[in-house]
Amino acid sequence: IPDPVALPFANAFAELPPAFFTRLQPTPLPQPYLVGISADAAALVGIDPATAGSESFIDVFTGNVIAQHSKPLAAVYSGHQFGVWAGQLGDGRAILLGDLPARDGGRMEIQLKGAGQTPYSRMGDGRAVLRSSIREFLCSEAMAGLGIPTTRALCVTGSDQQVRRETLETTAVVTRMSPSFIRFGSFEHWYYNKRHDELKLLADNVIANFYPELSGAGNPYRALLTEVTRRTAHLMAHWQAVGFMHGVMNTDNMSILGLTLDYGPFGFMEAFDARHICNHTDQQGRYSYQMQPRIGQWNCFALGQALLPLIDSVEDTEAALGQYEAEFAAKNDELLHAKLGLATRQADDDKLFESMFAILQAGHVDFTLFFRRLSDLHAGDDGGDEPLRDLFIERASFDAWAGQYRARLRQENSVDAARKLAMDASNPKYVLRNYLAQVAIDKAQNKDFSEVAKLQEILRRPFDEQPEHDKYADLPPDWASHLEVSCSS
Ligand code: AMP
Ligand code: MG
Ligand code: MG
Repeated sequence: IPDPVALPFANAFAELPPAFFTRLQPTPLPQPYLVGISADAAALVGIDPATAGSESFIDVFTGNVIAQHSKPLAAVYSGHQFGVWAGQLGDGRAILLGDLPARDGGRMEIQLKGAGQTPYSRMGDGRAVLRSSIREFLCSEAMAGLGIPTTRALCVTGSDQQVRRETLETTAVVTRMSPSFIRFGSFEHWYYNKRHDELKLLADNVIANFYPELSGAGNPYRALLTEVTRRTAHLMAHWQAVGFMHGVMNTDNMSILGLTLDYGPFGFMEAFDARHICNHTDQQGRYSYQMQPRIGQWNCFALGQALLPLIDSVEDTEAALGQYEAEFAAKNDELLHAKLGLATRQADDDKLFESMFAILQAGHVDFTLFFRRLSDLHAGDDGGDEPLRDLFIERASFDAWAGQYRARLRQENSVDAARKLAMDASNPKYVLRNYLAQVAIDKAQNKDFSEVAKLQEILRRPFDEQPEHDKYADLPPDWASHLEVSCSS
């Protein structure tokens, strides 16, 4: 079994000039222990999960021992936070170990989040608490299970060392993996510092390493903005389709690869409310569920502004950004048709979707359960709608909508059994509800990590029935209505 100390780290990011980062060592944590490991993530970079329990593995992925070929660094970036220019931010608690060869032929960067202070920590302690590390770990892997573009999480290690948040909490390190952690804010950093040479170096680096097919375009920077805008629009449609709310869509949390990045006070929609705000700190609701697509677009505009000196044409920049709405609408439409099991497109489908969201909103119906149960409805008038109907207090409005939906299904001669199969592959049975994460966190805080592993196992196959785990698909219990998540992590 290969020792993690000997992993073949390289560091492509460090080919950028020194102004882009600071080399430094993680700060060790006392007596670290393994909290969770994703065998799926490990397989992506050829790490044997059987090594996860070893002292060497735990030391390397806590930052207590530096692997032979790793040259750790923290990267600088800036960003807009809650719509306001925040100036320099950077990896304040994340340390990049380097990149490893990945199964797909590319490379994966390996980053320790919570590994101690860096020159970009500002007032922060450089640490992450066990609670937020487990949430990031579970949700990264759950999003991958849902087929949504995301950074991955290899493992979480914990320590009894405490830090102060709202209360004293123990610290942890989550090891994240992504081909790149470069953010929109990485570009804004050089733009707002009026350093266009560095801006160009960064864009050239990103194109060469992650978008090589764009290098031959007439203006590769315009092509880059076009592609990132398209990916971001599609990502927003994916989030909306599963009811995922990110909570902190600042430009420093937007991946240049169009991946879900930086899991903080995220949530999955339960009782449907389009205005739902998952981040307790976001009082204005800038990042509410219904705002996400528009904020995704706003963030693309911030990126476009930063790339303007390279694209060198306001018209071209606007053209690249101008496709956002159509790209979002097309992907959103595709995903909604799949969620409703509709194989064709009809003129009035938008009205069917609108009236569906209206009854979900009026009844505050559980988002995940609604779509999952919808696949049992029969296209004929012969039922299948009992468990679904039970989700509504106002049965009459449900019946009216179900009538429209059935008529629509019959219009395309939809076959019940085939439609159910297709719908169940689009509508997850299991999502990372806040209360499920909280139960796993409470146990982990008492050194029982079994629930972390169990959730991870369930959420890697969120579309499968898994009858032995039916209760993980249930409505949240009453105690969970008081759960709040904030930026404090
Ligand atoms: P976030 O809201 O988690 O995306 O973080 C925004 C900025 O604050 C980033 O530059 C983070 O690195 C930094 N940050 C967040 N928490 C801490 C912490 N505990 N110590 C140091 N920096 C932090
Ligand atoms: Mg961040
Ligand atoms: Mg963060």
